[in-house]
Amino acid sequence: MPGRKPTAEDLTTFKSQLQAMLGLISGDISHLRDDLASGGGEHQGDEGERYFQGFNLELLQHDESTVQELLDALDRIEEGTYGRCAACGVWIRKDRLRAVPHARNCIECQRGAEAG
Ligand SMILES: [Zn+2]
Repeated sequence: MPGRKPTAEDLTTFKSQLQAMLGLISGDISHLRDDLASGGGEHQGDEGERYFQGFNLELLQHDESTVQELLDALDRIEEGTYGRCAACGVWIRKDRLRAVPHARNCIECQRGAEAG
């Protein structure tokens, strides 16, 4: 069952949610960058520390793509295309947007993409 076009009120809500997520993730990234730039502190050479640095890098890459997703979603709000599935054009259901405010695709298309 397709959703409905988001109202101006919905857009305001999603916009502030996107901006809050963006602020949170951007803050995390600059924090991680500081950690990485400091070279891991005084625990260099430690096996556990090396593992932890690798983990941080993966997290950083993941977050940078999420930042782009969030920025794109904010662009779509400005353009008036926010909430519309990029693949099939139906309005994405609001419960999905609440869970994933930067979702590009409706749940049906997302499932299709994941299935291959
Ligand atoms: Zn779709």
